[in-house]
Amino acid sequence: MEHSTSAHRNKIPRLDLHCHLDGSLSRRFVEDTLGRAVTMEELQVEPDCRNLAEYLAKFALPFECIQSAKHLKYAGYDFMRSAYDDALDYVEVRFAPVSSCMEGLDVRTVIESVLEGIRRGEEEFGIACGVIVCAMRNHSEEQNLDMLRAAREFLGEGVCAADLAGDEASYPMSQFRELFREVKRMDMPFTLHAGECGSAENIVEAVECGASRIGHGVAMSGRADVMQLCRDRHIGIELCPTSNIQTRAVADYSAYPMREFLDNGLLATINTDNRTISGTTLENEIRTVREHCRITDEDVTRMMRNAVEVSFAPDEVKQALLARFGE
Ligand SMILES: [Zn+2]
Repeated sequence: MEHSTSAHRNKIPRLDLHCHLDGSLSRRFVEDTLGRAVTMEELQVEPDCRNLAEYLAKFALPFECIQSAKHLKYAGYDFMRSAYDDALDYVEVRFAPVSSCMEGLDVRTVIESVLEGIRRGEEEFGIACGVIVCAMRNHSEEQNLDMLRAAREFLGEGVCAADLAGDEASYPMSQFRELFREVKRMDMPFTLHAGECGSAENIVEAVECGASRIGHGVAMSGRADVMQLCRDRHIGIELCPTSNIQTRAVADYSAYPMREFLDNGLLATINTDNRTISGTTLENEIRTVREHCRITDEDVTRMMRNAVEVSFAPDEVKQALLARFGE
């Protein structure tokens, strides 16, 4: 099937660097996989969601759908189709391989299957994609380490980095220092979810551990010292506005720190987090912050340029994307 690529549709390239596969599976995918009709209420977070834990509960149904090699391949392809529908030029998708081992698959097969589906989507839709593997806060250090060692073999072959995800409020960053020291020794780049649940200290800890990017990081709002640390170390900040409002990480859009982070010279980026669970797209995120967070077209261009710079893409992909900004 021939598609016009996003390069034909966007002047300025569009990138989404923080997006979870399991939270972004299309309704069509879930229905095909479960063999029954599903409602959007089953897939999407309620408007009165109270916290991150409630938000995370929405992942139970998608997990059921990604427990076989066949479904994981389809999931990778389905994700690329969504990226195409959202006119993305480059995307990084993350998922926790261990969460797809509930019915007997091994981590290696899980990763291979997702990569196969993504590759098919990359070819069909003309969009480059890197996979980020997530260690989980509620998994044992041994489980996380075994997964990361298996994933390391795919680095540069579809996998581009590692991450730490899960319930930040229950498991502080300090518990994972040793794990990510080991990831650093493996020479694997990583981003870490930190500062989503109010703790600026988790951000400092993540940077000290060697994270090159921070997922969310909204807790450093008002903390000049932490912002300076991230600026000095050229840390990419992956902001996900709709998700942060839904999980109550930020009270409302008027308090959303995107303007503050840009004004403080941070390498802020704009992302979707969970396309299906949050009911969003990058197009929607951009529209929302333009309307509610005093973000201009120039700011959006700057955030897309930041995204290219902090992405885990190979140099040739970065150069091709950068060339499209002109001067
Ligand atoms: Zn996330």
